[in-house]
Amino acid sequence: MATTAARPLLAAEGVSVFYGKFRAIDHVDIAVGAGEVVSIIGANGAGKSTLLKAIIGQADRVEGTIAYDGSNIVNRSTEAIVASGIMLVPEGRRLFPSLTVEENLRLGRDVGRRGEIDFADVWRLFPILQERRRQKAGSLSGGQQQMVALGRALLANPRILLCDEISLGLAPLVVNELYTLIPQIKNRGIGILIVEQDIERSLTVADRFYCLLEGKVSLAGRPAEVSRDLVMKHYFGL
Ligand code: ATP
Repeated sequence: MATTAARPLLAAEGVSVFYGKFRAIDHVDIAVGAGEVVSIIGANGAGKSTLLKAIIGQADRVEGTIAYDGSNIVNRSTEAIVASGIMLVPEGRRLFPSLTVEENLRLGRDVGRRGEIDFADVWRLFPILQERRRQKAGSLSGGQQQMVALGRALLANPRILLCDEISLGLAPLVVNELYTLIPQIKNRGIGILIVEQDIERSLTVADRFYCLLEGKVSLAGRPAEVSRDLVMKHYFGL
């Protein structure tokens, strides 16, 4: 099983994130190793999306350190962070609906990061996208659009993949299909940070998890070593 080595690929240390004077994330420590799947769980408003925003350079004010491959990336531009290999699969997918599937995917490749993932890999992971590559992305089902969003991120050859609510609004069967791909992505040595409303699914796929409650880590561990009862207590702050 993958473990966080002495120096994990991504490590947030003492991170706080503010909206004006409001501290939405409060001194959070999290780490993601190469080839490790880490889940962030937490109720609505716990701060999950805000944490991802801070990592990808889209938060207005961040205190603390976010070390990536040994360098602090707080205050770096999103463009520089993406170019260095951290990719976000955003909530709501954010595709260009009037561009074709292939054109949307190409945006990932155009990030210009060299690596082993190419179109052939994306077609292998998502055969339906190859069939529909000349169709407008806006004409696809929600699940297929999520595949495009994932494929686009993978074509940028990320070292860290941030997934924000990839199952949102999708049918359970489609979500199952997407989640079977997570181990394949992990096996390429990519570190994956997953934010998911569906606690059970999130814990099933994760090597480790962090539970956020009102901007703080209320519980962290390995899913197999922590009872669901304890998770729920820390999830709701009981
Ligand atoms: P959800 O599951 O509902 O997406 P979340 O855990 O991702 O929730 P965040 O969206 O990160 O939570 O929100 C964390 C806190 O920050 C909440 O109290 C929220 O109201 C607040 N917040 C989020 N975005 C903003 C914003 N743009 N301006 C001010 N406050 C915000």
